[in-house]
Amino acid sequence: MARKLDDGRPLKNMDGLRLGARVRMQGVQPELLLALMVLSDLCRVSATMVIVTAILNGKHMENSLHYVGAAIDFVVDLVVDHEPWVQELRDRLGPNYDVIEEAGHIHIEYQPHVGAVT
Ligand SMILES: [Zn+2]
Repeated sequence: MARKLDDGRPLKNMDGLRLGARVRMQGVQPELLLALMVLSDLCRVSATMVIVTAILNGKHMENSLHYVGAAIDFVVDLVVDHEPWVQELRDRLGPNYDVIEEAGHIHIEYQPHVGAVT
């Protein structure tokens, strides 16, 4: 995962949420703002730095929720164990969000499942 910010500064000793320089957010769904708040809070309590790399920008799979402003990609540099941190994020976001580990980044999408309270 990324060890430097996009301006070249190291991630070390930094925590909190940061938006990458190329993130396009016009048209972002309000449900994603809530996910960003949850992600930001998790950063603070785990002393972790997260950089959002894509919301509406970037090339994604056909029918990707990015194209309707309902998905976030981010990179994280963890000092804690990776899997428990990702699981904690899943637990905090609950069943209306999917948290998917992809090559080099983590993807969150707002996608209520059948039977979910929306
Ligand atoms: Zn994605």
